[in-house]
Amino acid sequence: MTGTGRSDDALLAVDLGGTQIKAMLARPDGTALVEATRSTPSGDGAAAIREVVDVGRELLREPGVRASRVGLAVPGIVDAAAGIAVYSANLGWRRAPVAAVVADALALPVALQHDVTAAGVAEHRLGAGRGVDDLLVVAIGTGIAAAVIAGGRPVLGGAGQAGELGHVQVRPGGRPCGCGRLGCLEAEASARAIARSYAERIGRPVAGAADVAARLDDDERARVVWQEAVEALADGLLDAVALLGTTRVVIGGGLSHAGDRLLRPLAAAMRERASVHVVPELVTAQLGSRGGMVGAALMAAESHQLHHPTAAADGPS
Ligand SMILES: [Zn+2]
Repeated sequence: MTGTGRSDDALLAVDLGGTQIKAMLARPDGTALVEATRSTPSGDGAAAIREVVDVGRELLREPGVRASRVGLAVPGIVDAAAGIAVYSANLGWRRAPVAAVVADALALPVALQHDVTAAGVAEHRLGAGRGVDDLLVVAIGTGIAAAVIAGGRPVLGGAGQAGELGHVQVRPGGRPCGCGRLGCLEAEASARAIARSYAERIGRPVAGAADVAARLDDDERARVVWQEAVEALADGLLDAVALLGTTRVVIGGGLSHAGDRLLRPLAAAMRERASVHVVPELVTAQLGSRGGMVGAALMAAESHQLHHPTAAADGPS
């Protein structure tokens, strides 16, 4: 943990990820003052929140910095307006009142965000999406989700569920998805889907999609699996682009580490398939795993959806 000076209008920003909790005290423009990282207790939402509170308290003790609010980004399905983590398979959440719990524990107002939306806002303002106001930031890892920026603003959705690109059906009758349907983009083209599909072909497990990417030059089976995923992605992205008029797509998440091995065939597949679509520019994310935390800071700085500590918990109800 390192300090870089005084600030009186700081924010505490926390990204609660599946394996790591990243936290920082930041300026409202997303610049870090102090950072800290913790491991996420696996499969236990309550323990994960205790760890968020703990690292928050540690950072808030930093001398010379006074934070006035908290930006918290979490995975799964998030109702930002209500401050509720509606669902997370990994953390075991079902309608967890995360914002209220953290606000009470840290005695600061909390703005809750979906992690992918936060990362998308960060890419739009400070990363690979700068200068473009109709943008899709797509995180491809174990699952697939997107942040939608339209007209320069993040689209959250009335129920807080915009951007579920992973559950757009691109292959009717295709592979089973965790959501219960067949042929969702996530089931056809996530990093997990690619690893699984390749493992089926070679008859033994592989560590991940990076293994498949590494074999593209000398294994025809890897090429076939990769191309199938690329084509599914091209179909899913073109549907989103047709709807939103997106002019740039930022690819993030684990699969983006494949770089041009992903982007080149994906761009080609989109060009081949495009009819009335504007074919968007394809780029990789720039902020990497810090995006969620940086976006949580930026969104908290401007949020009108703050959840305040309930001093009233002691008062009349
Ligand atoms: Zn699905």
